[in-house]
Amino acid sequence: MYCRKCGAKMSDTARFCDSCGEEVKKVRQRSDTQKYEERKIEDAKQSKSKKSKHEKALEELKELERRNRPIRRELLKALEEF
Ligand SMILES: [Zn+2]
Repeated sequence: MYCRKCGAKMSDTARFCDSCGEEVKKVRQRSDTQKYEERKIEDAKQSKSKKSKHEKALEELKELERRNRPIRRELLKALEEF
């Protein structure tokens, strides 16, 4: 890898730059892991939103069932009266 301050080439395990003494911070790796974590978080958010959408749909269906039940009973009653 290269020093981010002076651009000198150095070993991957070096903690300080040999030419300028700049402390080596693994910016690339850190950003990669951050990106990976961000992706994971985004995926989790998306899956959560999908879940919530699915749950909302289920709730809507349940509500429709609740609303339809009395109607069905009324229909059954009407049919029985016939
Ligand atoms: Zn340097």
